[in-house]
Amino acid sequence: MAQYPQSPLMGRMMSQPLLISSLIQHADRYYSDVEIVSRRVEGDVHRYTYRDCHRRSRQLANALTRLGVGMGDRIATLAWNGYRHLEAYYGVSGMGAVLHTINPRLHPEQIGYIANHAEDQYLLFDLSFTPIIEAAAPLCKTIKGFIALCDRASLPASDKIPNLMCYEDLIAAESDDYEWPLFDENSASSLCYTSGTTGNPKGALYSHRSTLLHSYASSMPDALNVSARDVVLPVVPMFHVNAWGLPYSVMLNGAKMVFPGPALDGKSLHELFEQEQVTFSAGVPTVWLGLLTYMAQNQLKFSSFKRTVIGGSACPPAMMKTLRGEYGVEVVHAWGMTEMSPLGTAGTLLSHHQKLSEADQQSKLEKQGRVIYGVDMKIVDDDGKELPWDGTTYGNLLVRGPWVVSGYFKSEGGDVLQDGWFPTGDVAVIDPEGYLQITDRSKDVIKSGGEWIGSIDLENIAVAHPAFIQAACIGVYPPKWDERPLLVVVKKPGMELTREELLAFYEGKIAKWWTPDDVVFTDALPLGATGKILKNKIREIYRDYKLPTA
Ligand code: ADP
Repeated sequence: MAQYPQSPLMGRMMSQPLLISSLIQHADRYYSDVEIVSRRVEGDVHRYTYRDCHRRSRQLANALTRLGVGMGDRIATLAWNGYRHLEAYYGVSGMGAVLHTINPRLHPEQIGYIANHAEDQYLLFDLSFTPIIEAAAPLCKTIKGFIALCDRASLPASDKIPNLMCYEDLIAAESDDYEWPLFDENSASSLCYTSGTTGNPKGALYSHRSTLLHSYASSMPDALNVSARDVVLPVVPMFHVNAWGLPYSVMLNGAKMVFPGPALDGKSLHELFEQEQVTFSAGVPTVWLGLLTYMAQNQLKFSSFKRTVIGGSACPPAMMKTLRGEYGVEVVHAWGMTEMSPLGTAGTLLSHHQKLSEADQQSKLEKQGRVIYGVDMKIVDDDGKELPWDGTTYGNLLVRGPWVVSGYFKSEGGDVLQDGWFPTGDVAVIDPEGYLQITDRSKDVIKSGGEWIGSIDLENIAVAHPAFIQAACIGVYPPKWDERPLLVVVKKPGMELTREELLAFYEGKIAKWWTPDDVVFTDALPLGATGKILKNKIREIYRDYKLPTA
């Protein structure tokens, strides 16, 4: 960690460490009756208050202390968005241990790998993941016990899970008399592994300080803009970059929190949005697809939903237009990554944009937005030379800031920084007003005749056509060019469209040489553990694809 010189004259302000426990203490003291509503694995809807959550988090801290958990020990979770998972967020980090959220969509072998790498001591899991735990348990070398997030009546009868414990029993046996300890704010608080599309997953190890600064900054009006008047439903999972920090920032602001649990289908989500009068939500584009399709089929509307943050992969402009135009939901397009806790930029307008036409405003909002204070960014060429912010020059995107990783857990991958900047692996342009536009991940870039073709642009155009729901554009190698774009698309049920009609749809929207050389119609695209389209899989499938010769 960098050390800085001290001034001979230091300020005379209180030095209170920025600790995660202070968030729940604040929420209990100032928003004690605000509700946390959870759809449970058990099927029912559970409700309680911030005060209840604080009490049970303290009981959990006592229970973990009794199990011998100490500062810096890693405690894993394999759980949906719900109140017990939230108690683990606060109970584990609050006592100085480290919450390791594992993505349950990973293969049991990958779960074993990261649990061993993290040296997890205990693992808390939701009942729906019992089969995964049974498969992964023999591979986990350091876990001393598995805690099922349920009461005694629902405890699975499994002889394949060693030292299986019942969460409700465990905390019921403890008093809520617990003082959150004070310690250095740079202590590790939580751990999240990147999905590792190439190589082994690597751990981003967040600190209390980075988490609190991210919570403050991400709440600002031009970022998430969450207030005590909001009802927040994080669709983004708590096992994926801490649900973009919402379990912390929502508590900081005293908003009502609604957790969807495992029910992420359009019908269940719409019911919960309406029943709890949700005003704000966040998720990757694929989750909105299911909800919007269900709503269109059943001619439904939202009665309270006002604003959503979409990120994790590019939000197709067509989706943004539908949400805004047909449902009155403002979309904030955000960009970030696991290594950035995750928020880096958010797309909102500047004052003078208010005079622009709706179409011009929309084209600003389609970009990934401007940095949130705290993060700094730049684009560089392959030699590390900084490139201009002219809205057309492409470069490798680098970032720095107090909630950006300085290296991976256990120094995996070595020294990753370039002159103090973190290379994001994304390729982007930045316009003169500082709006970032991600054109590709560097490993997905299509290079044709030495020039880049923006695959995200090509995908966005395809899904703007009413016949398509999903598209992925990859580079394939014909004999003549070094690489040419191939478009792989999924049609909406009942829609018909030919290759020629789709290619004609590109006319006038892009430079002619960007037009995909061919189109493949498929039933589904492979999705990764975080719901993103897996381009490396698609590249594998179509590696030997023969493009038509011009
Ligand atoms: P992984 O997908 O490897 O698990 P993350 O979930 O942290 O990692 O994803 C980070 C990456 O997702 C970014 O580097 C970027 O490529 C992509 N991404 C995130 N938000 C956006 C966005 N709004 N538009 C385009 N790409 C995005």
